[in-house]
Amino acid sequence: MENIIKIQNHFTIIDEGGVRSFLFEGKDKSMLIDTGFGSIPVKDIVKELTDTDVFLLNTHTDKDHTGCNKDFDKVYMHPSEMEHYKNALPEGCKIEDVMPVWEGDIIDLGYWKFEVILTPGHTPGSIMLLERDKRMLISGDTIQDGDIFMFGPGRNMEAFICSLKKILKITDSFDSIWPSHGSYNVDKEIIPKIIRGAKDLLEGKIEGQEPPWPMPCKKYVCEAAGILYDFK
Ligand SMILES: [Zn+2]
Repeated sequence: MENIIKIQNHFTIIDEGGVRSFLFEGKDKSMLIDTGFGSIPVKDIVKELTDTDVFLLNTHTDKDHTGCNKDFDKVYMHPSEMEHYKNALPEGCKIEDVMPVWEGDIIDLGYWKFEVILTPGHTPGSIMLLERDKRMLISGDTIQDGDIFMFGPGRNMEAFICSLKKILKITDSFDSIWPSHGSYNVDKEIIPKIIRGAKDLLEGKIEGQEPPWPMPCKKYVCEAAGILYDFK
């Protein structure tokens, strides 16, 4: 299938066009990161890709990341994300099925070991996953070169900037960044550019443009990404 992109052994991207999910295969169990918009049967695709048991983890719970959550009997996420998830719970999903992961937790798949890093801002409980040995960072929507949604309930621009600064301090630990949107993989030089863009936006140094489709926000284009924001 054209939306299955094998990046390397034990690492496959499921690309839905506009958003992507990641499958990391381990020895006995595998981890699926996010489930897209729901326009393709992510669980069936994953079953074709691996014989191991697969558990689901959400980087965060905007609708474009939870479309097939209902096909999994539980979902891991940071507890700070639960309210955001509950407020727009996808059909067929139950809040009781949420399992917590916490800052510093190691998700050990045998072949992969991911460390959970809390990076609020885009949503309250957005997380990134750091693979120190393989030198990879899974960044969700917080680091990317597409349009970063920063308007509406749950967004927090100051927290977003603090989270990016937190990641900037550990750039020695990874070489490649794997976002959910935009290009992949992106270089870590993008991080200070997004921080600068977000600060310039807040300081009124960037002129807002009309968003790509009707939304209650303006689009602020910085050196590295677009930021969709509403000053009201
Ligand atoms: Zn997204």
